[in-house]
Amino acid sequence: NAPLSEVDPEIAAVLEGELSRQRNTLEMIASENFAPRAVLEAQGSVLTNKYAEGYPGRRYYGGCEQVDVAENLAIERVKALFGAEFANVQPHSGAQANAAALAALIKPGDKIMGLNLAHGGHLTHGMKLNFSGKLYEVAAYGVDENTYRVDMDKVREQALAERPQVIIAGWSAYPRQLDFAAFRSIADEVGAYLWTDMAHFAGLVAAGLHPSPVPYSDVVTSTVHKTLAGPRSGMILAKEEFGKKLNSSVFPGQQGGPLMHVIAAKAVAFKVAGSEEFRERQERVLEGARIIADRLTAPDVAEHGVSVLTGGTDVHLILVDLRNSVLDGKQAEDLLHSVGITVNRNSIPFDPRPPMVTSGLRIGTPALATRGFGAKEFTEVAEIIAAALKPSPDAEDLRRRVSVLAENFPLYSGQEEW
Ligand code: PLP
Repeated sequence: NAPLSEVDPEIAAVLEGELSRQRNTLEMIASENFAPRAVLEAQGSVLTNKYAEGYPGRRYYGGCEQVDVAENLAIERVKALFGAEFANVQPHSGAQANAAALAALIKPGDKIMGLNLAHGGHLTHGMKLNFSGKLYEVAAYGVDENTYRVDMDKVREQALAERPQVIIAGWSAYPRQLDFAAFRSIADEVGAYLWTDMAHFAGLVAAGLHPSPVPYSDVVTSTVHKTLAGPRSGMILAKEEFGKKLNSSVFPGQQGGPLMHVIAAKAVAFKVAGSEEFRERQERVLEGARIIADRLTAPDVAEHGVSVLTGGTDVHLILVDLRNSVLDGKQAEDLLHSVGITVNRNSIPFDPRPPMVTSGLRIGTPALATRGFGAKEFTEVAEIIAAALKPSPDAEDLRRRVSVLAENFPLYSGQEEW
């Protein structure tokens, strides 16, 4: 029972290398975050050894008395955090939560209507190679060609024409808030269920800084590892009437034994997400995104063909439009990587370039806000990104400025407030 460094030095080196990468670069992938030590501790614990098929108090295995406590805490905390009637905290991932939600609501062959993947939707909202596109009929809605926003009049028109059984609100790459009340009223008008996938913005909702889809939706799914900053995993919230079906759809429908170490880590993350520190952090997430969007819409950047979709942001991410720049998404991603900033290239709506190249960048602030960045640091980050996207950047100087920021905010040092 020797330590990792002795049992497997190669994997120990990967862990060391990754910690060093996370410490020395600026993580701006919008779907990533830094889980607190307490979450990592729960996740890397002896709970990994336990089988617990079933639900608290109704397991198919003995010896579940401790893990039952963990799962009940996770359920009660997440219900309180989001004001939900029902919660299932067992999905191993966001994609599995989504598969379970659809399986509980409709039958294969029924029709779903979500945001087009190419316009910011997620694979699980009906992409043809995903289970959602294979099992269900799909009628995707898109963003408006001029405003790049979801136009609820058009969604309504399309829903009336298509008559889907489920309407999906939610996105992976969209810089604005959705109108959940309007989605609810359209769903009611066409007799559809409303499922919201709040994976990206759940942390903002928890902090009360983004409208909550919970009162309007029949089912709400989420990941726990994005703005929520918990372990990599999924969860489902719903009106009580869907609870039984959802539970059976997760287990035995989609999964076998729940990952009890991850469920314990979710309980920790939900506790942290109810704190004042977490709320204040989400304010910095939003402030940072606004600062970067403002900087990247300034004339000295715009004159080089760089713009920001919708002209700004209401959430934790910015979508940069490079269609008129000399850089494509891949080149811009590589350029930022070379100065120590990690982002991902992203297709933008009506993108003329293929998905492996793209004409967009998705830039997110949650991880840096967790690291402690506030307005001052995000202003410097915005300057670095703006300089990198303009012609002939001084890469060495930008790398140095990134290092100064990284050094000033040590990661997993034991000194952080989170
Ligand atoms: N839903 C949305 C909106 C997402 O953005 C993602 C992840 O990118 C998922 C679901 C899937 O989560 P996971 O990667 O945990 O399967």
